[in-house]
Amino acid sequence: MASVSPEEARDILSGIPVTDSHIHLDPKASCIEAVERFSKFGGERLLLSHKPYHDIPVRSLDGYREAFQRTVDTCKLINDKTDVQCRCIVGPYPVELIRMIENGIPLRKARENMLGAVEIAAKYVEDGDACGIGEVGRPHFPCDAEVADACMEVLTFIMHTAQRLDCCVVIHMESPGGPDDIGHMQQMAYMADEAMLDRKNIVKHFSPGYMSLPKMSLGTIPSVIARSKAILQALEGGDFMMETDFMDEPTRPDMVLPPDTVPKTTAKLMKQGKMDEERAHRVHGDLPAKVYGFE
Ligand SMILES: [Zn+2]
Repeated sequence: MASVSPEEARDILSGIPVTDSHIHLDPKASCIEAVERFSKFGGERLLLSHKPYHDIPVRSLDGYREAFQRTVDTCKLINDKTDVQCRCIVGPYPVELIRMIENGIPLRKARENMLGAVEIAAKYVEDGDACGIGEVGRPHFPCDAEVADACMEVLTFIMHTAQRLDCCVVIHMESPGGPDDIGHMQQMAYMADEAMLDRKNIVKHFSPGYMSLPKMSLGTIPSVIARSKAILQALEGGDFMMETDFMDEPTRPDMVLPPDTVPKTTAKLMKQGKMDEERAHRVHGDLPAKVYGFE
């Protein structure tokens, strides 16, 4: 597919508040430079998702406080230093439960830490420093039944907390086996229903394109990985957002996708007439505004 220049992309995208609905940025890595790459091609809004930091081990609640604070500070830094509007989510990363156990913390204590971390995250949401809880969920690889149960228990608590706060929950979990495998999302949707949390507050991060099909999303919001092929597929279904899941890890540059991919892919698809302006406004404007509270 022919590429677009920054000028051309900005021209095509003019008036559309292009949003990356899931990015990680680390003030100790490229951070502002990555945001500038995004805005160079017409990107305007970022949903910054918390990630574990190598230099802040989370073995206790103090570790969580310090780690979440870094994400919140990074969000403020981006709003101060760039023209990009940034909102953030914080929450205990799914795999951390397993890491704690590997580090000799008993399951009971590890579970307690995860639940405590949810309460700390909730405080950030209450104070208006974060717009939701995430990314959370369960490990996307098989693990002990006991551990899997603890993950589900933490997730249930998160859904109830999000209901109380009326905020979003960004879920990281195994991807479905294909466009007919609705089991995973069904479980999430039912969990939300049980907590009386609006399904529209559930974001399935790292969604394949077919997750936008109503029979797959079940009223939850897919955040689709911004590869052209996946987005073309997503366009055949209902509502979705677009993400890079850029990790900002110097050892894995430009993983999962480079930070400028959302505007580039959107501009390319619009140039080819495969995404019209109305749809682009829905994907980038109305939906992220509703889910994450962008202005
Ligand atoms: Zn992520």
